[in-house]
Amino acid sequence: MEVFHQAADLIRLAPRIRLELEQPDYEHIFYVTAHLEDRLVPLAPSDAAALPPLDPSVIPGRTGLVPLLGGKLILRPEALRAGSIHIRDGVLRLDDTLYRIVPSGFARFKSYRVQHNQARGPYKGGIRFHEAVSLDLFNALAAEMTWKTAIADVPFGGAKGGIRLDPREYSKEELEAISIRFMYKLKQLIGPSIDIPAPDVGTNSEVMAWMLRQYSDGERERHEMRGVVTGKDVRIGGSEGRGRATGQGLIYCVEEWCRNTGRAIVGMRFIVQGFGNVGSAAAEILTTLGGRCVAVQDADGTIYDPSGLDVPALIAHVQDPHNLARSVRGFPGGQVISSSEFWSVDADICIPAALGNAIGGVEAERLKVKLVAEGANRPLTSEADAVLAARGIDVIPDIIGNAGGVIVSYYEWIQNKRMEHWSLAEVNTRLERAIKSNYGLICDIANNRLARTEAYDSHGFTTGRTVPVRLAAMVLALKRIEAHYMLEGFSQ
Ligand code: NAD
Repeated sequence: MEVFHQAADLIRLAPRIRLELEQPDYEHIFYVTAHLEDRLVPLAPSDAAALPPLDPSVIPGRTGLVPLLGGKLILRPEALRAGSIHIRDGVLRLDDTLYRIVPSGFARFKSYRVQHNQARGPYKGGIRFHEAVSLDLFNALAAEMTWKTAIADVPFGGAKGGIRLDPREYSKEELEAISIRFMYKLKQLIGPSIDIPAPDVGTNSEVMAWMLRQYSDGERERHEMRGVVTGKDVRIGGSEGRGRATGQGLIYCVEEWCRNTGRAIVGMRFIVQGFGNVGSAAAEILTTLGGRCVAVQDADGTIYDPSGLDVPALIAHVQDPHNLARSVRGFPGGQVISSSEFWSVDADICIPAALGNAIGGVEAERLKVKLVAEGANRPLTSEADAVLAARGIDVIPDIIGNAGGVIVSYYEWIQNKRMEHWSLAEVNTRLERAIKSNYGLICDIANNRLARTEAYDSHGFTTGRTVPVRLAAMVLALKRIEAHYMLEGFSQ
């Protein structure tokens, strides 16, 4: 909230509006229970060595075994029916590995939905499935959504939520059960005109489809409810271009930055942290425009090739169903480097597209780039911001850099309301205009430049002095939100 307060001071935001925005409207914490299947968990080598010899079990074709992260396996009844099984004291051997059987049962998951602000429209924000979520995190991310929807100028407020779990540790069937139970409880808090979730880290269009079904199942006017979640598959009411919209929006900002600074994208070298939805799409689009991806880091590995990684092949590697960690690790077309070496790879652009606080002061000192284009939410600490400013490295802040996702979510929501389907070209034309005009306005506020263009008028937004671009973006957000409170007033 540091930048929020700086911007609020700068524009002398009315005290009551500041109080309204400092804290969320609602913080919901609830618990979701679901049934988990039998699991085989590999024994630690010391535990395995302490056991007497055990005959191997044989399961032809490994039928009924579903691999999970960390060597665990879901054990389905088909495996027992098809195989020759030897179990002693709840332990069985498959090939050379001893596994303990963890019987099926129920588990409880802590879940959250924070609704930050709805001055400009229904609450809007993603659902995150991750083991390191908390109320504090969702409060911060929900507030970011309020600023982002204002900057993108879409008629939404801000929200965020999710479940504390690592989705890679559960079968698809378990994730479906957890997701629909989550929506069963969330249903009374949300709606297509109240609060509209979307995918975030660890969730995707498949999770949105489960949630849509649970929300609308059995309702008489269920097709009217299609807009309750965005980020759906195009075949069930999702928008063309939504899957890659966040990465696409970021690259529209990079194009503008190149235009403003007189640089060409062709030949630009870039590094990407996080190779999921945002990072992989940004890398693919930037490569198509002539950029060269020289290093990629994710949660499980870092790879490097100064002559340029083959991005489509890397995407295929990460999405290979056998790649359980969905990681760049093991990609044959690159050299492995350490996670700390990643930050000092010589390049022009760094795209952090993983989690928050990925770049602290130390990493910022090491970076050898001219631009940090934030795909993730809050990837730079304030210390990193100060270091980059002192080193003259430009930043495209997250609240405009990754706003492409919520902008196309808005297009999806309109299409659902109107029962329309727009072409990819139409979506991208609108997205490009929305991103480039709002980024242009932010740059004008940053440079204290009064300008009237076809798309915007910076009079009424500039502050009488030059300000860092992140502060300029927050000024834009607060001025747009402030207008609602000033013109509509407060209900008593
Ligand atoms: P994702 O789950 O598809 O991918 C996340 C990536 O980050 C994975 O490659 C993962 O391995 C990597 N990662 C996780 N922890 C890491 C670590 N400690 N070090 C290095 N890499 C790590 O998520 P996504 O949808 O691509 O979202 C990425 C970021 O972008 C998040 O901060 C999210 O909030 C933000 N964001 C996403 C969208 C969207 O439309 N998906 C929109 C706006 C903002």
